[in-house]
Amino acid sequence: MSATPQMLPNSKQTATPMEISNSALLEGYRPENHGSAWQQDLKQAIRTPGELCERLGLDPEVGNHAASEQFPVVVPESFLKRMKFGDPGDPLLRQVLPVVEENVSVPEFVGDPVGDLSARTEKGLLQKYRGRALLIVNGVCAIHCRYCFRREYPYLEEPKSLEDWQPALDAVAADHSLSEVILSGGDPLMMTDARLAQLIGRIAEINHIQRIRIHSRLPIVLPSRVDQPLIDVISGTRLQTVFVVHANHPAELVNDCADALRRLVQSGIPTLNQAVLLRGINDSVESLELLCKRCVNLGVMPYYLHQLDRVSGAAHFEVPVEQGQRLIEQLRERLPGYAVPKYVQEIVGEPSKTPLL
Ligand code: SF4
Repeated sequence: MSATPQMLPNSKQTATPMEISNSALLEGYRPENHGSAWQQDLKQAIRTPGELCERLGLDPEVGNHAASEQFPVVVPESFLKRMKFGDPGDPLLRQVLPVVEENVSVPEFVGDPVGDLSARTEKGLLQKYRGRALLIVNGVCAIHCRYCFRREYPYLEEPKSLEDWQPALDAVAADHSLSEVILSGGDPLMMTDARLAQLIGRIAEINHIQRIRIHSRLPIVLPSRVDQPLIDVISGTRLQTVFVVHANHPAELVNDCADALRRLVQSGIPTLNQAVLLRGINDSVESLELLCKRCVNLGVMPYYLHQLDRVSGAAHFEVPVEQGQRLIEQLRERLPGYAVPKYVQEIVGEPSKTPLL
């Protein structure tokens, strides 16, 4: 980086997903609704850097507490169990442990790196690309990824109830160029099945919408979320459902996570994976190759490898584009074409993701 780093202030500028979770404002997830296994698992999630380090046999000072005040730690037990005990460099741990580098300000790294706010045409509705519209259906996640491009998104401004969604749904109904609605967040699967079914039902009432795409990290980090009631909801609609999960490292795709992905795939829902290229986590051909192989072996097709979005506090994760291009070339030599993800970057104002190779 050529820019001179400065220290970020400790005060929060926008609401984080965790603040929203604590506010219990969203209708989709209410902490008192914890009857299902996944809701019980969510309740047990680790929520401090000290506990995270302690559980892994690490010095609690490895984690940075100031950074976690700005963007709190949330790590489900299942994800923790896939980390290596006693290894501060574990690639799963590095995705979720706040570190001191997050407090370094780098000018190119900003609060809204992909222009979400300028793409908001109604509350909760983002329109960037032709034929598709994206709904920010809630602001809560089961895990907090330190590189998240929406870590400063103003979720509190978005609709809280199904009624609040009406202007966004009216806008989708009025735009006949749209054929696909993407459910994003936060994580859309943090909504209860009942709420999710209601929202999908409302979207299905719009005749020109043919597909629904669900972007969720829950099958990876909270595999118990992929239960039969959820599969019934997402496969019980006239809309073709496409599922996009988010795993970055092969060590994520084992045990209960692999079982959850098998359940999804065996239910007949096309399932794709998007990963983010992250320094010190998956920036080697060996880890990317194994990630892609494990995906394909589970029936999950590698979709995108994203160049990091330049969000504040994430500069230490960035891998140079030239290195990413070399990695993709090496992957092409090792894998069949269908197993190599597209290496892309989101550039504000472009009509699609920009291919980097
Ligand atoms: S699960 Fe997705 S939206 Fe949630 S913190 Fe991670 S990257 Fe961000």
